[in-house]
Amino acid sequence: MSPKNWLKTLAITLSIGLLSACSEQEIDSTAAQTAEPSKTYRWKMVTTWPPGFPVLQQGAERFADNIKVMSNGRLNIKVYAGGELIPPLQTFDAVSQGTVEMGHGSAYYWAGKVPEAQFFSTVPFGMTARGMNAWLYDGGGLELWREVYKPFHVIPFPLGNTGVQMGGWFNKEINSLADIKGLKMRIPGLGGKVFAKAGGNPILLAGSEVYTALERNTIDATEWIGPYHDQRLGLYRAAKHYYYPGWHEPGTVLELTVNERAWNTLPADLQAIVSNAAQAENVRMLSEMEQKNISALAELQQRKDIQIHRFPDDVLQKLKTLTDETLQEEAAKDPKFKRVYDAYQTFRQQNDAWSDISENAYLAIP
Ligand code: CA
Repeated sequence: MSPKNWLKTLAITLSIGLLSACSEQEIDSTAAQTAEPSKTYRWKMVTTWPPGFPVLQQGAERFADNIKVMSNGRLNIKVYAGGELIPPLQTFDAVSQGTVEMGHGSAYYWAGKVPEAQFFSTVPFGMTARGMNAWLYDGGGLELWREVYKPFHVIPFPLGNTGVQMGGWFNKEINSLADIKGLKMRIPGLGGKVFAKAGGNPILLAGSEVYTALERNTIDATEWIGPYHDQRLGLYRAAKHYYYPGWHEPGTVLELTVNERAWNTLPADLQAIVSNAAQAENVRMLSEMEQKNISALAELQQRKDIQIHRFPDDVLQKLKTLTDETLQEEAAKDPKFKRVYDAYQTFRQQNDAWSDISENAYLAIP
């Protein structure tokens, strides 16, 4: 073979090779895509968090970034923090109305509109992250949650968990229930109702106002999240007594909400990507929260100007009794609330029975 012919043969061989590689790639990608393979979706997600808020806002952004990579750019979600596009507490309505396709927040923010939604975030003395994941993913909880949001054309997914929160910062020691009488504490939701029953004075304050209110003694106490976010807000400068455990928020589930009509326009593979990315980020946000709390607690324990205390047992027991009363009262006046409460309680009792002889028994070994 002359050099010229050899080159010609090589060129033909290479081009055939390249062509066949191309066609294989085309076949593969066509097979992987179930509908409208060329269509690119540009979605908006709004959240209830401040811009750049660590773990929560950042986790929502990581979720969107991962979906862009996994979908090869076919699903682009632009994430807006609370207030950037709409006020934070209008997230649910914006998703419901289809103003945006997605939202990130927590179900108890919509308690005014959907009281029973609180069971899908957290209730005082409720289940921790382990129990909530077992209930939601495999114990019928998520199906129930989807039924509850169905009239609003919103599809929920668990997307993150704060883990057990801290009990909060107090400007005096809490040695008995008498110390709660008249105490002005920033504590929202059902926790606030229970606190009021215990004689306390629950105050509603946005996160941005918490530090100043405590520092100026407008309030006597506040809860926030856990050691990491509490330290970041500087609450140790405003009150000296830091209490645990966060009886009022034992494992707050964060939620992804998707507009139902928008969801139905997605091909099955993009739906699977969103659903699996949500599960992945649900685990990731909790583990990041735990790691950051581990580090922050170690730093707070070094401080000489604060004291970290456990709430006295009798205070916790009384708050627990008052929580049972509060939940039963809410259930008695609202059949929708009762339906979710009953399902939650049934799973919770089974979960407690197993936890008592597994994780709790193990952790109780002296
Ligand atoms: Ca909290």
